[in-house]
Amino acid sequence: ELIDAVPKARLDQFSRKAVHQEPLLEVIELQKTFRVKRGFLQPPREVVAADGISLTLHEGETLAVVGESGSGKSTLGRMILRLTEPDAGAIRFNGQDLRQLRGEALRQARKQLQIVFQDPFASLDPRQKIGDAIARGPMAFGTSRAEAMEQAKKLLMRVGLNAVAADRYPHEFSGGQRQRICIARALALRPRVLIADEAVSALDVSVQAQVLALLAELRQEMKLAMVFITHDLRIAAEIADRVIVLQKGRIVEEGATADVFTAPRAAYTRDLLDAVP
Ligand code: ADP
Ligand code: MG
Repeated sequence: ELIDAVPKARLDQFSRKAVHQEPLLEVIELQKTFRVKRGFLQPPREVVAADGISLTLHEGETLAVVGESGSGKSTLGRMILRLTEPDAGAIRFNGQDLRQLRGEALRQARKQLQIVFQDPFASLDPRQKIGDAIARGPMAFGTSRAEAMEQAKKLLMRVGLNAVAADRYPHEFSGGQRQRICIARALALRPRVLIADEAVSALDVSVQAQVLALLAELRQEMKLAMVFITHDLRIAAEIADRVIVLQKGRIVEEGATADVFTAPRAAYTRDLLDAVP
């Protein structure tokens, strides 16, 4: 009866979406080798940072990327953002081939993929007021200064800071506050995907929990998809729907968070879990 009441066209659209929903982001067989210079006359050392990495991310989903330091997590994040050019492979975002995009189309796609790094001090300009730092992105996409500033203040309040923070400088804030500022700055562009690269790793545990809770709320509110890069398995377990485990640029395990952490299949994952204090 309920189904009869729904126009046929909408029903088709709905079932298609439910059954075959296209991933928002799809990474296909990414490959990246760094050649690191050594001494005079020595050949460069080759470091394989990505060795055929494939993954999908759906709207609103949080995927954790875990693995030891040097396993290739940041390189993967940087390649998705096109900050590092892969040697081979494809990145599809919202139905487009990200690696083929140029000019304005690339700019628009990039706006929808934002990143928050580990060290919020390094990514904030010490001479720029917080409000300007947040407003800058939207202004570059045509928002008026007045409106961008208004939004910046609202976002600052949303991430738990006061609107007067807009007139202050980065050094006037704690590490946790600066991370909230970076989150506000990323969200000002209304992204569909947020990549968090060790975004809470440098924070004290209690501040870490607050920022994680904030991210979980924002994800819900904005239907954000997140790639949560972390070496900390406890954080991954807390925030992610799905986990991939990287070892030397390869995915050694992948699955629902609960499955991976309660019944890991790869020996490497078991070792990582055993190492958690
Ligand atoms: P993770 O984030 O998991 O710690 P990274 O992606 O930063 O790992 O690094 C993966 C490997 O690639 C490491 O061995 C690292 O030294 C190397 N690497 C990363 N970036 C560069 C670079 N720009 N030049 C040379 N080697 C790099
Ligand atoms: Mg890293």
